[in-house]
Amino acid sequence: MHIFAPKETDPRETRAALVPEMVARLVKLGAKVSVETGLGERASWPDAAYEESGALIAPDRRAALADADIVFRVGKPPEDEVGALKKGAIHLSFLDPFNEKALMGQFASQEVTAVSLEMMPRSTLAQKMDALSSQASLAGYQAVILAADRLPKIFPMMMTPAGTLSPSRVFIVGVGVAGLQAIATAGKRLGARVDAFDTRPVVETEVKSLGAKFVKIDVGETGQTAQGYAKELTPEQIEKQRQGMAKVCERSDIVITTAKLFGRKAPVIITKEMVAGMRPGSVIVDLAAEGGGNVEGTVLDEEITTANGVRIIGHGKLECRVPQHASQMYSANLTNFVEHFWDAEAKRLKLDMEDEILKGCVITHGGKVVHERFRNDG
Ligand code: NAD
Repeated sequence: MHIFAPKETDPRETRAALVPEMVARLVKLGAKVSVETGLGERASWPDAAYEESGALIAPDRRAALADADIVFRVGKPPEDEVGALKKGAIHLSFLDPFNEKALMGQFASQEVTAVSLEMMPRSTLAQKMDALSSQASLAGYQAVILAADRLPKIFPMMMTPAGTLSPSRVFIVGVGVAGLQAIATAGKRLGARVDAFDTRPVVETEVKSLGAKFVKIDVGETGQTAQGYAKELTPEQIEKQRQGMAKVCERSDIVITTAKLFGRKAPVIITKEMVAGMRPGSVIVDLAAEGGGNVEGTVLDEEITTANGVRIIGHGKLECRVPQHASQMYSANLTNFVEHFWDAEAKRLKLDMEDEILKGCVITHGGKVVHERFRNDG
């Protein structure tokens, strides 16, 4: 089986879907591995490192795509490249299937098995292949680092002969994978005082175990889906949440919002008025910027300063700012997938479409859109 990783085409993408360490693991399985020239450049891996691990360097991208049985990619492919894939090939990447109906159709007509990493089930077994989580951890960490860099204050308490500096206050809204890393980084690693809130009350214990304070806001009945994602609040509940959060925002130096709703637009939970109530110099990082943003005024991929001197950071994909570790984790997620479904005797991938993991993440197979959530649309 030939596994090929082409270079990413999105100019903002810094990650590589395959890193040398994972090449070695795949070669050990008995696969032929090739990577496009310069694949790891932006994540600091030269071609030579891939060669040393057993990969071939492929200068002709389209020829390699046409020959590959498995394609590793971070982002979705450009539309004109789906047609270059081999019939029956397996394509692993983020696909944004909720917004990419035409692309799914193309995969189906090309008879490619397209796996969407976003749809990986949140089961214990699939955790090692869960790229949304691996990347969200890094984004949560990076959000704090970025905010710390922009804040005109330091995080920890400092007692010096010149006086005592009180610790900065950080408010984390949304305590999922990214939020937990943000709490740990801001509080445990950098010494800030951290408050956190989530509509899923189950996270309160996790917040406390990280030494942070859970902000209690009674918004009525909330919940989570079987996959662990938050349920959408009603407009009245969102309003209650805003009122409960306004005071906490006012006293915070940094607010980091991570509140997403899987497959839907992110809720706006911080209004212009709440931002106006914050002190000059305060920083907001909106990790939901790509999904529409949790903060009124967020501009995707930009940093803006409001009239009252609050900086709102809307950069998407913060994990791309630590491309080496992000590639390492992403590549491990894909390699774990291949190892999990590898038939050692036949030395090939064997996909049983009745498997629970595959039912969750395979979008197209055998010329059709097979995923139950997208099938009718397909
Ligand atoms: P996410 O990125 O969809 O959302 C981030 C957080 O925002 C979530 O905690 C969500 O509850 C919260 N949120 C949504 N609306 C909000 C609102 N109005 N106000 C405040 N917070 C709001 O979620 P995620 O980080 O991908 O993960 C959610 C959960 O799934 C976590 O508990 C995580 O531990 C769990 N998980 C389990 C597995 C597994 O079992 N394999 C894998 C990954 C994640």
